[in-house]
Amino acid sequence: MIVISGFSGAGKGTLMKRLLSDYDEFALSISMTSRGMREGEANGREYFFVSREEFEAAIKAGKLLEHAEYCGNYYGTPKEYVETKLKEGKNVILEIEVQGAMQIRKKFPKALLLYVTPPSIAELEKRLKKRGTETDEVIKRRLTQAKTEVDFVDDYDYLVINDDLDECVKEMYGIICASAFEIKRQDAFIYELHTELDKLNF
Ligand code: 5GP
Repeated sequence: MIVISGFSGAGKGTLMKRLLSDYDEFALSISMTSRGMREGEANGREYFFVSREEFEAAIKAGKLLEHAEYCGNYYGTPKEYVETKLKEGKNVILEIEVQGAMQIRKKFPKALLLYVTPPSIAELEKRLKKRGTETDEVIKRRLTQAKTEVDFVDDYDYLVINDDLDECVKEMYGIICASAFEIKRQDAFIYELHTELDKLNF
């Protein structure tokens, strides 16, 4: 399981699209949200758009792996899709904010946590304005949110600076590949080594 977080406007969406189109081994989790649909979005593609009541029912029914409230809206990861894709052997990417990421870290200590930032806060502001889908009020709220979020960066495994899209995709792929060799992710194989060695009778 790979968690990718970053300030709103860091370019996560574009990065995810590239990772999925450039490499076969990834599946992107589609979240559930109670926020309104933006122009150009479709239900079941960017998100499953639901009402606050429907979202709360999903929490109660235990259907979400994690959930959080962000800028006044609920966001959460549906459990079933992630579990199916993990069983198929895919690396499942969760593009979620920090509170959800911390819940995943607790539940799945082997999940890889990446944080993406733009090269500067001035650049972040520029990107949010350029998006053209947000009001000034929402942009302000998202920048205020960034102030809170920055405190969580220390809890992630890697920080990636999204300065150049091609470079950033390659860097992220490199990190993901290398992380598979970390000792904590090889416990099944290490256990096998122990078992085989124990069988030797000298
Ligand atoms: P946006 O409204 O711009 O699509 O997303 C706002 C924030 O919610 C982003 O930081 C995004 O990563 C986060 N987010 C999207 N889906 C989920 C989710 O399932 N769980 C959590 N905790 N955050 C999410």
